[in-house]
Amino acid sequence: VWNYSAGPSMIPVPVMEKAQKEFCDFNGLGMGIVEMSHRSAEYMAVAAEAEQLLRDIMEIPANYKILFEQGGGRGQFAAVPLNILPEDGFADYFVTGHWSRCAYKECAERYGKAILHECVEKDSDGNFYIDYSKMQVTPGAAYAYACLNETVNGIEMFNLPETGDIPLIVDMSSNILTRKIDVSKFGAIIFGAQKNVAPAGLTVTIVREDLLGRARKYCPSIFDWSVLAAHDSMYNTPNSFAWYMAGLDFKWIKDLGGVAELEKRNCQKANLLYNFLDSTDFYRCPIAKSDRSRVNCVFTLKDESLNAEFLAQAKSEHLVGLKGHKVLGGMRASIYNAMPLEGVEVLVRYLDKFAKAHS
Ligand code: PLP
Repeated sequence: VWNYSAGPSMIPVPVMEKAQKEFCDFNGLGMGIVEMSHRSAEYMAVAAEAEQLLRDIMEIPANYKILFEQGGGRGQFAAVPLNILPEDGFADYFVTGHWSRCAYKECAERYGKAILHECVEKDSDGNFYIDYSKMQVTPGAAYAYACLNETVNGIEMFNLPETGDIPLIVDMSSNILTRKIDVSKFGAIIFGAQKNVAPAGLTVTIVREDLLGRARKYCPSIFDWSVLAAHDSMYNTPNSFAWYMAGLDFKWIKDLGGVAELEKRNCQKANLLYNFLDSTDFYRCPIAKSDRSRVNCVFTLKDESLNAEFLAQAKSEHLVGLKGHKVLGGMRASIYNAMPLEGVEVLVRYLDKFAKAHS
């Protein structure tokens, strides 16, 4: 089966197979990782290795902490203001789609003043694009927030706003490790693991040390980045299995040549898919070329009455997960790190065949 689901989604085959092989008996210890105390020396070594691998492959500077948490992306939508928005302060939210809007609402409706910057416009062809000129920070803001890849909308930010001394906090839940980034440009990077890294239930925060120690008194301890940092992310029981699988995934990335190699592959995959979509009138991608996500490709069928047939036939040919998000409709093909080029070639062949049969 080729799985184009937006998440949870494919995990690289070698990672799945290694986890399967070790599932009942990890390293000859006679028990599986899921049965092992997270405080045992053996598990602590697994956890520390995963953290080090992530530090290596992302080249995370020494003045950033890496926290392995729970609560998902939405948990971090609350954790961000609870950790770094003073009660009398305000933050800038650059909204480019569904998930940055959710983060904005979580802050504005519960925790304090959030300034909304609508940053997506429609061009003369009716395509959505990011208007970076709208990403202006407000002097005195505690932080500026952006989502670098809008999973639902299929919009990716390839440029960053200039925020000066104001820390830029970004959600990279769906494009983490899919392209090289300079971590030192960010105050914090948050991501859920379930798209590019590991099973659901693990959330990672990479945070610059000077942003620690500012949490509100009533911030739940398990969301307080300083508490987590002080306890090496083991203040409470972590999702030990997902953390272990994340480590396997980071090792897989390192061995294949690192994030730069994945970026090369992701460009190739995305180009193949978008070039095909652009070559036909049967399908349409509503995002301006410069802002199209490399990992979540949204498109519509010109004749939407064919949607159900398109999905049913795809499923019968073992192509699943192509239905668009419920808030947007249409179709979406998610082609994260674990999707090989072959999976995109198969999809393009299906798209072509379906179009020809219905034209
Ligand atoms: N941010 C982005 C970019 C996402 O794609 C998602 C989920 O798809 C979320 C946040 C929400 O994550 P969670 O379901 O882990 O709360």
